[in-house]
Amino acid sequence: MTQITPQPGIMDIALYQGGAAHVDGVSNVTKLSSNENPLGASPKAVEAMTQAVTQQHRYPSSDHLALRSAIGETHGLDPARIICGAGSDEIITFLCQSYAGPGDEVLYTEHGFAMYRISALAAGATPVEVKERERVTDVDALLAGCTPQTKLVFIANPNNPTGTMISEAEVTRLADGLPKGAILVLDGAYAEYVEGFDAGAKLIESRDNVVMTRTFSKIYGLGGARVGWGYGPAEIIDVLNRVRGPFNVSVTGLAGAEAAVRDRAYVEHCRRENAKWRSWLADQLAEVGVPSDTSCTNFILARFGSQAEAEACDDFLKARGLIVRRVAGYNLPTALRITIGDEPSCRAVAAGVRDFKAGQGA
Ligand SMILES: *Cc1c(COP(=O)(O)O)cnc(C)c1O
Repeated sequence: MTQITPQPGIMDIALYQGGAAHVDGVSNVTKLSSNENPLGASPKAVEAMTQAVTQQHRYPSSDHLALRSAIGETHGLDPARIICGAGSDEIITFLCQSYAGPGDEVLYTEHGFAMYRISALAAGATPVEVKERERVTDVDALLAGCTPQTKLVFIANPNNPTGTMISEAEVTRLADGLPKGAILVLDGAYAEYVEGFDAGAKLIESRDNVVMTRTFSKIYGLGGARVGWGYGPAEIIDVLNRVRGPFNVSVTGLAGAEAAVRDRAYVEHCRRENAKWRSWLADQLAEVGVPSDTSCTNFILARFGSQAEAEACDDFLKARGLIVRRVAGYNLPTALRITIGDEPSCRAVAAGVRDFKAGQGA
């Protein structure tokens, strides 16, 4: 027997299942399984990253000042209270590492993002899952789930994989109702898809217990570059910076993200295209008996009559090279999460689901 064992909690972590990118025997696939921007990154971001390729022998800035300033200008936030990470996943990791350990509880909802549980376990803390109300974050359930051991409460607003969101009033009620010593983390990975939404920034200005996380992986189309950021009270950001590695964001990532956040016209273009095709696809699926909740994101959660039907539809789409996401791991076994692709992809998905449904009836 080996004496070498990992820290408690680590072996309870199931390996993260990313969205599939390949189908055996199909050469031309359309990947709609990871909520990536089908239009790609801003051409200005691509140009900045191309330039950065010649600087790979240099270490990146360790204070990320240029990127924090650009984010601050764009969103009207204090750059001193912004922290950048290798994706917002890293900010989630910093929060758990800094504020939750053995005996502490980390709360999230039954259809919440997988990283909350993974990061809580990695920190040795106890993950606690509370119910949602018909695929919507339930503030009462979260408040009822809090104990004196609760250190972190994570909600994504809008949420992945449900696509739903709760109001500012509900988020405020949650922030105000938490036990002292607990931090509310507002994961705004999809915030840019909601017109005029500040993801909770205003709430942060008047509270000492609210943090938000944001990412360049979704509307900015830079998932491959791994850049995210967090915003919160000075005391908390100071703590997170102590556990952050000095060179955690690459030269290329910093350059691309800075150019991307400044290109507001491109973000607006992507938001509009997404909204247009999202409602088109939702209508098409509803017409053939596949409902979905109104989505505030760049995907829809398509609901089927049973797990067997959802899986059969997934297989049917896969055979046509259309890769969507099964979400049984998110306690949604009868649903499929479909990223809003470009027009041809949306048309292919609509036709695929229609043909699947027609074939079922035959
Ligand atoms: C995609 C996603 C993220 C972003 O992860 P990155 O590490 O920034 O790529 C964070 N939270 C949720 C809910 C997401 O869906």
